[in-house]
Amino acid sequence: MSKVLVIGGGIAGYCAAMAARREGADVTVVARAPGATALYAGAMEVIDDLDAVLKRQPHHPITRLGLDSVRLATELDTAIHALQLALEKEGLKLAGAWRTVGLYADIHGLARPGNLVPASVAGGELHALSGKRVAVIGVKEVGDYDAASTAQALKELHGIEAFPEEVSIPDLPEAASVTDLYGRRAPLPSRIRSNAIAYPPGFTNLPQEGFELLASPPSPHGWRLQQAIAHSTVRADISSFETAHRRLISAKSGERTFRADAFVLASGRHIGGGIAGGRLAVEPLLKLGVFHDGSPVAHMGTRLQHMQYLDPAAELRGGLATDRSLHPLDGGGQVAFENLYTAGAVLGGYDYSGPCGFGVPILTGWLAGRLAAKQQ
Ligand SMILES: Cc1cc2nc3c(=O)[nH]c(=O)nc-3n(C[C@H](O)[C@H](O)[C@H](O)COP(=O)(O)OP(=O)(O)OC[C@H]3O[C@@H](n4cnc5c(N)ncnc54)[C@H](O)[C@@H]3O)c2cc1C
Repeated sequence: MSKVLVIGGGIAGYCAAMAARREGADVTVVARAPGATALYAGAMEVIDDLDAVLKRQPHHPITRLGLDSVRLATELDTAIHALQLALEKEGLKLAGAWRTVGLYADIHGLARPGNLVPASVAGGELHALSGKRVAVIGVKEVGDYDAASTAQALKELHGIEAFPEEVSIPDLPEAASVTDLYGRRAPLPSRIRSNAIAYPPGFTNLPQEGFELLASPPSPHGWRLQQAIAHSTVRADISSFETAHRRLISAKSGERTFRADAFVLASGRHIGGGIAGGRLAVEPLLKLGVFHDGSPVAHMGTRLQHMQYLDPAAELRGGLATDRSLHPLDGGGQVAFENLYTAGAVLGGYDYSGPCGFGVPILTGWLAGRLAAKQQ
């Protein structure tokens, strides 16, 4: 049985571990802390237009896999089905499909697209709310969320008949915030005047007609997802590796050594810690190559720093690049280690908070885990 070490406890590491275990590998996942996965707003974006990505974005991690759209779609079907089953077992049911997109409002009433959402969010799909009367629950003691302005925004921006409905939860701490609602039973409005009820995120036991709004960080949706995927994760901060002949032998965290036959690096981007910013973006663990639109950032001089101010979204596209088997490249464009694979937001060439926010981690995690288990 081959041994696989996955470095990263976010959605990419989780999908890698799932796939490697399916191939019969003995998998250990290590993570030092929650990363960007724990902050996601509650609507997973998988991919908006697969063919357009393949045609127009040569450095996108999905294009770099060198697979045609039919094969990619099949892999996404399998990976997402496995993910949905696994999360459901952990008590987190996801609704939707990667081929369909819905629009969901956040706590300020602004709409955000999503392919997959928690079942508790699904009832708030904006098109499905048209023609309904929506009560937006406000909590008197909570200071950082205003149900009246959310209801106003739902009306003005999306044409939904929404109105605020204030409740009181007297045992909340003084100067309570939305995060203090986490894990509490959903209060019911005093009068039933609506056929849909929008709740700020975090409550449990919603009534049948209730749904949760999307969050801004810190996000209850992200926290629930992080808890669902963190069960078998070992807490460890990997700081160095033992290597020999372009292979990794073990990873070290303090006094602990994790030996494996293959390794998956799913260490996230700036929030996870997989890429360190500064004058020059670097991959801190193995000094792998960091690329921006196909060019090593080390050769870009100050151009990338200027971009930080001119176009931060473009600047944030910098990250690792891989060959077709998800082996990360070194600064010279060569495969760095034969038994190292990489997945998720640590990969460059796409906007990780954009339309592939979850699609890249899920798909590359799934494929990297499988490749690592087979060492292909
Ligand atoms: C604020 C915010 C909101 C977002 N909202 C959405 C959204 O609503 N929809 C959407 O589709 N996408 C969203 N995204 C994007 C999406 O959340 C991320 O792209 C995705 O979660 C990245 O997953 P990941 O597993 O690659 O990385 P992460 O979740 O960042 O995980 C990286 C992991 O690696 C670990 N790690 C790093 N270095 C080491 C080390 N040396 N040793 C041990 N462990 C290490 C970290 O501790 C962490 O566990 C959002 C992103 C942000 C930042």
